[in-house]
Amino acid sequence: MSAAADRGGAPDVAVVGGGIVGTAAAAILAGAGARVVLYEREALGAGASGRNSGVVQRPFDPALVPLYVETVALYRELEASGAGFALGGRAAGLLLLDPSVAVARAVAADLAATFPDLGAEALDAADVARLEPALAPDLAACRVPIGFPVPPSAATYAYATLAERRGAVIRLGRAAVPAVGGGRAAGVRVDGRLEPAGAVLVAAGPWSPALLDPTGRWRPITRLWGVVVETLLGTPPGHVLEEAAMDEALGTGAAVAGAGGPDPGSGTAGAGTARPGPIPASPPAAADARPAFSLVTAAGVSVVGSTFVPGDAEPGLAAWEVRLLEHGARFVPAIADAPIRGVRACARPVALDERPLLGAVPGVEGLYVAAGHGPWGISTGPASARLVVDAILGRAPAIAPALDAARFGSPFG
Ligand SMILES: Cc1cc2nc3c(=O)[nH]c(=O)nc-3n(C[C@H](O)[C@H](O)[C@H](O)COP(=O)(O)OP(=O)(O)OC[C@H]3O[C@@H](n4cnc5c(N)ncnc54)[C@H](O)[C@@H]3O)c2cc1C
Repeated sequence: MSAAADRGGAPDVAVVGGGIVGTAAAAILAGAGARVVLYEREALGAGASGRNSGVVQRPFDPALVPLYVETVALYRELEASGAGFALGGRAAGLLLLDPSVAVARAVAADLAATFPDLGAEALDAADVARLEPALAPDLAACRVPIGFPVPPSAATYAYATLAERRGAVIRLGRAAVPAVGGGRAAGVRVDGRLEPAGAVLVAAGPWSPALLDPTGRWRPITRLWGVVVETLLGTPPGHVLEEAAMDEALGTGAAVAGAGGPDPGSGTAGAGTARPGPIPASPPAAADARPAFSLVTAAGVSVVGSTFVPGDAEPGLAAWEVRLLEHGARFVPAIADAPIRGVRACARPVALDERPLLGAVPGVEGLYVAAGHGPWGISTGPASARLVVDAILGRAPAIAPALDAARFGSPFG
């Protein structure tokens, strides 16, 4: 990167987006000595990074597992930095629930065949009742010893704190657009004014494609809206809970989804009977969408999820709240009477092949992207940020082709 002095003291890197990816990138860049300005158009965690279900969990897509492993290591460092984030010592465990023990066994066998290291086991209703008395008494489960519940926005806020501590400047309420001219990034435009920077990183989740290509031609990331309800359960289950027959719940047909993402419907890519990928192959149209149950409890708040509604517009919250609570009470009866703390929606930034786009934007020098983490961003985003930071600083081996932003061509034609 050229010296900041060449640009009259402008930052080395302008980061667009104050979610988990943008804040982690700002902290890592600043830690490497770069001068950083992060622009966030609303508030930190205003998108999915502040409104997710809140579990750091191992993905089932092999291409994402290294990102998860490094993210856990980065979270341990974040924890040690005293910036206000704690991952917890031991995984809470994930229960993939179904009334049929045959389904639970099929999911466990599937996972054991594909990921023997995971230690998936089938539990009948009596086992489940002993393990989690708050659950409805007729549920079998596949148990997988993974999943660290965290307050949904905790990592994003902590990375922002760390970034500022390291000298990064965070500008909230500032929408920024990459400024490109003569084949290179000149900085960002804020309120129509050019703010120069040596490099620009677009980490704006589902809004990233529109920032890179306002014509609408380049759209490798789509939106899949998740509505969740925050409840205050008296004695919440300790496990992360998900509905096992996810595809059926979502109306996409398959009998056994082999679920198991941090966000229900996130599937077990590569597992025998499971569809490949972290979301339904054909998300149902908004009108047909049904909730798929999940429950994650962190810091006393139990988040009941979730919906999978495609499209640009945020779904209405009131109708979904009723459906989510009704459906959730089938799994955890106390949900029916639990005090409600809030209802919220956010968009999963889902790439066409369900893997993030990382690295240099082809055809424009100094322009980078890190976006498209779908239902896995809290579990993989910091490692993605580290990879792209290394690319920006010119100190990295190449990003794996499966994750390289260039696989979808250039937004600049
Ligand atoms: C219901 C639900 C539950 C989920 N649960 C989990 C989970 O348990 N575990 C997990 O790992 N993942 C989960 N996810 C996925 C995870 O939340 C996302 O993958 C992740 O938050 C995406 O982070 P991001 O930083 O890429 O994008 P975002 O969080 O969307 O952040 C992008 C930011 O960019 C800002 N922005 C947009 N345009 C501009 C602009 N022009 N200028 C400045 N700023 C701009 C936005 O305001 C936003 O704050 C869940 C998602 C949903 C929807």
